Amino acid sequence: MRALVVEDDPDLNRQLVSALDEAGFAIDTAFDGEEGYFLGDTEPYDVVILDIGLPKMDGISVLEQWRRSERNMPVIILTARDRWSDKVTGMDAGADDYLAKPFHMEELLARIRAQVRRAAGHAKSEIECGPVRLDTKSARVTCDGQVVKLTSHEYRLLAYLMHHNARVVSRTELVEHLYDQDFDRDSNTIEVFIGRLRKKIPTDLIKTVRGLGYRISMEDEG
Ligand code: CA
Repeated sequence: MRALVVEDDPDLNRQLVSALDEAGFAIDTAFDGEEGYFLGDTEPYDVVILDIGLPKMDGISVLEQWRRSERNMPVIILTARDRWSDKVTGMDAGADDYLAKPFHMEELLARIRAQVRRAAGHAKSEIECGPVRLDTKSARVTCDGQVVKLTSHEYRLLAYLMHHNARVVSRTELVEHLYDQDFDRDSNTIEVFIGRLRKKIPTDLIKTVRGLGYRISMEDEG
């Protein structure tokens, strides 16, 4: 999963990045509205954390412009505690959720998980496929009840496939959603990670759909 953090306060920006990193996200950051708008307009994100009070272009305008050009990723806005009107304006501008500063990082992470799940059509924090169970809350994976040890890259890959288990996911989509913009995006690395994952979970769970990508499924698709 890939997240965008648009926050001009350097301390808070850093805290957000570290919390999201720990939660298994690839993260891009922006410190003003123009840069944030540009990233959200050109890169695919699974969730965006958007501060309202930003230099160069305020968060509400950023959000309005994204929505006007059909950028529909989940957006959680951060508002100042005493500015209740920001929440109303923000939700009207197309925010999916909001949080007033100061907030507990745990609460923000729970809201992020809920948005990511909802966008992928899952209601619960645990996603199952056959014997494999992904707990998005603790970022843990079990197979037949046994904990499967995964590197952060392997976890991200499996989490993305399991969130989108109703369809085939292309290699390009995986590269775009698993790495931040500074990562060397060689799609061959995806194959390497798929190979490693197949050794850790039942081998036939991740299907290769020739010419299209990958699909996670228990059914035999031939
Ligand atoms: Ca601010």
